[in-house]
Amino acid sequence: MAPTNYKVLLSDRVEQDFSKWFKQKEIQEREVYRFLHTMKGTAGTIGLMELSDFCGTQLEHFSEDSIRLLPVDSLEEFMLTLKSFFVVEDFSPNVEVIVDLEEHALTKKSLVLVIDSDPEFASHIKESLEEQGVPVVIALDGKKGMEFFYTLQPQMILVDSNLPDADGFKLVTQIHDAAQSRSLPIAVVSEDNHVDNQVRAMEIGATDFLPKPLNMAIFVPYVMNRLRNQELILQETLFDELTGAGNRRYFNDVLVQMTNSSERTKNIFTLVLFDLDHFKKVNDSYGHPVGDDVLRTFGQLFLKMKRQSDYFFRYGGEEFALILPDTKALDAKVLVERIRIAFANMTFPNDTHETFHVTFSAGISQYRLKQDTLVSTADQALYQAKKNGRNQTMIYEMASEDLRRHLNIIIVDDDSLVRRLVSKQFSTWKPDDFDLYIKEFADGVSFIESEWYTPDENYMILLDGVMPKMDGLEVLNHVRSQYPNENIVISMLTSRTNESDIVLALKSGADDYIVKPFYAQEIVARVQRLTMRMFN
Ligand code: GH3
Ligand code: MG
Ligand code: MG
Repeated sequence: MAPTNYKVLLSDRVEQDFSKWFKQKEIQEREVYRFLHTMKGTAGTIGLMELSDFCGTQLEHFSEDSIRLLPVDSLEEFMLTLKSFFVVEDFSPNVEVIVDLEEHALTKKSLVLVIDSDPEFASHIKESLEEQGVPVVIALDGKKGMEFFYTLQPQMILVDSNLPDADGFKLVTQIHDAAQSRSLPIAVVSEDNHVDNQVRAMEIGATDFLPKPLNMAIFVPYVMNRLRNQELILQETLFDELTGAGNRRYFNDVLVQMTNSSERTKNIFTLVLFDLDHFKKVNDSYGHPVGDDVLRTFGQLFLKMKRQSDYFFRYGGEEFALILPDTKALDAKVLVERIRIAFANMTFPNDTHETFHVTFSAGISQYRLKQDTLVSTADQALYQAKKNGRNQTMIYEMASEDLRRHLNIIIVDDDSLVRRLVSKQFSTWKPDDFDLYIKEFADGVSFIESEWYTPDENYMILLDGVMPKMDGLEVLNHVRSQYPNENIVISMLTSRTNESDIVLALKSGADDYIVKPFYAQEIVARVQRLTMRMFN
């Protein structure tokens, strides 16, 4: 459905509500409050920021807990103003944002992980950075912090020196060792800014020491600088100049990371090794500079044709590698074949105005648990491809256990528009290795009473914080107390920032929260990250 249709739907709903109110003559103050509250979130979600802001300011005049009855006449002015947001001719300046979020920083790759036992502090950081387009995930203890470090691969980490279950300094050491040459900015945040503490933080490899309380005016630009610098450093030290591919060192790092994270999360991934065919002949016939041109073009083609999440490396000389997260061998082959054919069809010029073609061979191996022979199995497959006549792709054969898994996305929100918007956005996500099942519930009770759970499946629950009958927190507590944690990721959808229910939600086992108004695409991007760890 086009975003403008959401606008029409929303407008219809306002008309319906208002005509109901007029029939009643009097209305409960808390009903007005709820109406505005929902409207604020929904309008923001579908890009109607001005309407959302308007509802936000109106909210201040009403109380959620009041049992007062208000004469509808007294609300007339506010109702008229609200309706006027729907009659303006050129109504959708922000609607475009929903359609094309490619440019929006939140969908890009940088993610900051905050490991801190103080939820108010962490939430404050989250909100300040997310305002600047940098998504933040919070871990309230060291265990969750390490889990998020491996599964979400953040670009920057803030660690509280004082954690409930771990010594923050030990955790930093662990993270620093695991991150290896990723040049990951790690800041130790501490209430105790004694010089010994600062020295210790530096000695174990932290990039920065930040004393609490943080000055947000400095903190936010500081994080932005760190993220930008890190990107530059990575560009300089991990990439091969000629081809633009990652270098061997980067390859080794990524392979270790992928293997570690796969052992924990049971996520699959696939390695492909490439070797150009008869490349010596290219050099011998046309000279090394021409050979270099071929390598450069080869690199450009891969960088263009691989998916964004895939890693491309120069393994050495005229040998290259792809690491494909969440991809099984057969799917890798589809991609590789596409590139192989494109490359074989390219024409290269030489000095004598003749042209020539170059081909490559590829070997594929999918990672299996506890397998330490990934490179050698991919190499064996590559050798087979060469032996069979080159210019082809071979898969290293293993017993395949090719059952497709399920990810159930459950949206529990009393706002039908939000449910529709979010589930519509999810339907555009087509994961390679599992199937999505989207379910919607209008309230917590009907969700809990449904037979939603099957032990072997995976769940992502998006839970509205404020709902009639049973609020999001109660639903969260119910799920966390009745079901295992490993295969259920829960994110709260909340319009209350910095309030006790966010704190309670995190303490009660929510993995994340998303502040309304949100972009539907932002939710999908976050869910993709949060659910990566579940697949086995
Ligand atoms: P095969 O099909 O069996 O792979 O044959 P091949 O000729 O490609 O054999 P091999 O892979 O053993 O040879 C690789 C050649 O690639 C040798 C080396 O001179 C050349 N080479 C490696 N790195 C570069 C480079 O950076 N630039 C150029 N121009 N040539 C390179
Ligand atoms: Mg070679
Ligand atoms: Mg070769």
